[in-house]
Amino acid sequence: MSQDAALSAALSAARAGASVEPGSAGGGSSTGARAVSAAVSAAGPAERANELVKLGADPRSEYMFGPICSAVTGHATDSEVRSGAASGGVVSALLTHLLESGEVTGCVTSRIVVRDGDLEAETFIATTREEILDTRTSIYFEFDPFDREALERMREHEGRLAVVGLPCDLSKLRRRCAKDPELERRCHLLIGLYCAHTSQKELIHRVLAKEGVRVDELERFRFRTGRWRGMMQLHFRDGRHREIPFPRYSLYQNLFVLSAPKCMACVDHYAEDADLATGDVWTKEAKQHEIKHSIFIGRNRKGVEALAGALEAGVLVGRPSTPREVFLANRRAVTYHKAIDARARVWKLWGRTLKTADQAWPSRWNERLGALIVIGMEELSKRSWGLRVIFAIPRRLLWCVLAFFKLLSHY
Ligand SMILES: Cc1cc2nc3c(=O)[nH]c(=O)nc-3n(C[C@H](O)[C@H](O)[C@H](O)COP(=O)(O)OP(=O)(O)OC[C@H]3O[C@@H](n4cnc5c(N)ncnc54)[C@H](O)[C@@H]3O)c2cc1C
Ligand code: SF4
Repeated sequence: MSQDAALSAALSAARAGASVEPGSAGGGSSTGARAVSAAVSAAGPAERANELVKLGADPRSEYMFGPICSAVTGHATDSEVRSGAASGGVVSALLTHLLESGEVTGCVTSRIVVRDGDLEAETFIATTREEILDTRTSIYFEFDPFDREALERMREHEGRLAVVGLPCDLSKLRRRCAKDPELERRCHLLIGLYCAHTSQKELIHRVLAKEGVRVDELERFRFRTGRWRGMMQLHFRDGRHREIPFPRYSLYQNLFVLSAPKCMACVDHYAEDADLATGDVWTKEAKQHEIKHSIFIGRNRKGVEALAGALEAGVLVGRPSTPREVFLANRRAVTYHKAIDARARVWKLWGRTLKTADQAWPSRWNERLGALIVIGMEELSKRSWGLRVIFAIPRRLLWCVLAFFKLLSHY
């Protein structure tokens, strides 16, 4: 059998291995692990695998989420890893496994610290399980994880690194690696997080102020833990602890209030330059699961191998998934994200020009109306009076606006 045929046979086996529903890991997980491993061992030389191993290689799926070689829905096996994670704890479980198996010697991760009375994102090289677990959950404000200092530390690291980042940051890192062979040698595996967009730090300040919290009272802050939409965790310097539902933040974030400016021109939702990418499963079915699931995709041989290794070692459980599920997991977010033509047209109303990707698809009326809502909110939030107006609007009314925007992004 040719390598191509062996590969597609193995990938079909991987898809057919989906005999167990998510949430009841067990036989399905090991079937999935074996099938994914089979796909890997059938893949042949890395250069060829990068071209060959593609699930759903039709133009629409390529446009929506880039190359996918294997897709799995599941979560970390260890409940300690999952507790405190943003989604299924997949990133932390994978990093721990890579480190403990000697595949890498360090993991470039980020966490929120309180420094000089403010929240700061700190990127560092974690070399122990404890350090990795300390970086669990998402950071929803803008920062540069690969600034000069961070790149220098990565270059000086003796050994191989797994690196976690948002799609735009990983693309930037890839470009740096292309010019810097030393850095390239260090960066063994790039793990991307799906990303709808991020916000300016001022947004969390505003939301916490609305909740009566002063940032300088905090000792520790986490954006999102727990099932489904999750809770923000606040630890105060005086020993108090408080939880605030994450939707009190995500309501404004999802309406693009104080959005990071760079996100307006972005079309990469699923971390297309990563070796392996992961994110939430935002479907009705997933809402019912006792354990929060993630959906993760291997984009090339390296990514698929890392996934297969973690599944075989039992640190992750999951079942083979499909490009369709990848799409459905983030259906509205990716539909909006890819509608850059709509954003460019609406921006013109403000006399601004947005450079669209050459291959951007023509926009539809619903996308243009959706873009009008979010760009309107984003523009309003740039003005201090506008921000005051937004935060004075009852949340219920904003929920209605958000529901309408989501409806427009559903198709
Ligand atoms: C700004 C942002 C927007 C997102 N948008 C979506 C979305 O639209 N749809 C979706 O499905 N998923 C989205 N995600 C991803 C999702 O929230 C989870 O981060 C992802 O599913 C991993 O969860 P986990 O439980 O496997 O990771 P965990 O085990 O909790 O580990 C999280 C890892 O991510 C790293 N990390 C967190 N935030 C950042 C950051 N900003 N930059 C660099 N590294 C970071 C941490 O250092 C840690 O290593 C977004 C994440 C972020 C940060
Ligand atoms: S939306 Fe794009 S530009 Fe914005 S943070 Fe996410 S990946 Fe980066």
